[in-house]
Order: sequence, then C-alpha cells, then structure tokens
Amino acid sequence: MGRFLLDEIKAPGARALFAAETVKVKRRPGCDVSSVVIRTGCREEEVACDRLLIAAGPWSPGISRALFPTARRDLPIHADTGSYSMLFRFPQITIKPDCRNKSVVLRSEGQHSLQLMMRDDGLVHAATVPPVTLDLGSAAANGRIERIGDDLRALEAEIQSLLSVPSEVVLRRACFSPVTESRLPIISQVPSAWLDSECNGIHDDERRSEVFVLGGHGYWGIAASLGSGKLMAQLMLGEKTDVDITQFSLESHSA
Ligand SMILES: Cc1cc2nc3c(=O)[nH]c(=O)nc-3n(C[C@H](O)[C@H](O)[C@H](O)COP(=O)(O)OP(=O)(O)OC[C@H]3O[C@@H](n4cnc5c(N)ncnc54)[C@H](O)[C@@H]3O)c2cc1C
Repeated sequence: MGRFLLDEIKAPGARALFAAETVKVKRRPGCDVSSVVIRTGCREEEVACDRLLIAAGPWSPGISRALFPTARRDLPIHADTGSYSMLFRFPQITIKPDCRNKSVVLRSEGQHSLQLMMRDDGLVHAATVPPVTLDLGSAAANGRIERIGDDLRALEAEIQSLLSVPSEVVLRRACFSPVTESRLPIISQVPSAWLDSECNGIHDDERRSEVFVLGGHGYWGIAASLGSGKLMAQLMLGEKTDVDITQFSLESHSA
C-alpha cells in the first residue's frame, strides 16, 4: 500500500523528500503560511506553500511549537500509550505450516495477557495485550529508557517461564502511539487564533488558518489511514467531506 501511495503521489509530478525536516514557516500579512524551509542533511531550501498539513504523529505538537513559536495553544496529541513486543526463535520447535500466520492469546499472571503470532519465517512475535501503558514523557530521558529496558527483560522472562522451552530473543521493541484524550483522531483546520496571529495584524478569532492537522489515531492509524487521508484532502481542498467530521475538529478536542 505504501508503494502504491507513493507512486500515486509522484505520478502528477510531486516530489517526496525523505529524512527531511520542516524547520521554519514564513508568513506574510493576512496569511499564516506562505512558504516553508525544509532541511535535508545540511541543505536548506524554501518551498512556496499555500496550505500546510502537520501529520507527524506524536511529534506533531513539538513541530507545531517549533514552526509557530508564539502559538497560543499546543496541539492536543500525546505519546503516552506504548507497547512492548519481541521476536523469539525457538530452536527446538518447528512451527507446522498450518499454524503459521496464526496467533494465540495466553493469560499470564500479571495484569496483561500475551499474544503470540507464528510468523512465516518460523519466528514468533510476542506482544502484550492490551498494550502496556508507557508514559514516555521526554523520550530522551535516560531514566525512562532504562525502565523500558527493565520492562522488556521482565516480559522476556515472563514469556520464557510461560512456555518453558528454550528460546532466543531476536528483537526487542518498545514503541508508542499518538493519542488524544478522547481517543478520537484530529482531522482539522487550525483556527487562526491557535497560532500567533498578532504579528500578522489579524485579530479576527473566527478566521481559519492555512494550517491543518491530522493525527492522534492511537492504535488504529493504519486501518484508518486511507479514510482519514481522503477526508483531510477534501477539507484542504474546500470540498464537502464524505462524512461529518465535526467531532474530529480541534475545537471539539479542546471543548
Ligand atoms: C506496535 C504497534 C502496532 C500497531 N498496529 C496497528 C495495527 O495493526 N493497525 C492499525 O491500524 N494501527 C496500528 N498501529 C498504530 C499506527 O501505527 C499509528 O496509528 C499510525 O502509524 C499513526 O500514523 P501517523 O501518520 O499519525 O504517525 P506516524 O506513523 O508516527 O508518522 C509520523 C511521521 O512524522 C515523521 N516526522 C517526525 N518529525 C518530523 C519532522 N520534523 N519533519 C518531518 N517529518 C517528521 C516521523 O518520522 C514519522 O514518519 C500500531 C502501532 C504500534 C506502535
């Protein structure tokens, strides 16, 4: 699907930049965004922009703060739900072909259960169900990273004692999801009042900005991606959306 979408984007002549960071927004009077400065490695380029969509998952609030430093409000997307998972190899067990791509949920002693998924390549993917709540706070803080390491080791020991067969861990993983307080996603145009409008001399709080935000899909962002993307495109193009998206607006999220 990713490859298909990328081809569709490139077909009409659009350029996709990878490992690129939008570092600055330029504005002109009466307009919240007129161009963006994009950094790729040590190269910076300015690209004209009449509508800007912020869709950077849990990084969206940070990006919005960096691009609009005097914004009055933060985007209400958080990164406080996480999940641990790991890949196991069981050298003494051969997974029968008819068991592959099937999963089983085992009840464990702790507060969660374990989901084991037998993969095509003979490895077993193990994850906690429901996902462990993981307050990342500042992800860069060492204390939290050590805690994630401890939690992963505890999970590994739990799986090994539950299955009581020799195993090797191939991969350990901890990740987090963009969530909102209501657990509904945001598909919204940003009201001008959310951004710093004073330097533009605009004091009309009702005005909609040229900035949009899409995110906060929690654990369903892949399943909801095509529908959300279509609704977002309709909103950005000023078309009637296929469904009523009032409940996904920033105003509803901050009500
Ligand atoms: C373990 C796990 C399992 C999951 N399983 C499922 C599932 O089975 N089904 C499902 O529907 N969903 C699932 N999800 C949830 C899904 O992955 C998310 O909901 C989805 O990825 C959110 O999409 P997003 O585009 O909003 O954010 P992201 O996927 O986080 O994308 C944000 C992007 O912004 C980029 N970015 C960050 N900063 C900048 C910057 N300054 N400039 C430019 N780009 C930037 C990041 O590199 C990233 O590529 C799962 C999530 C996890 C963690």
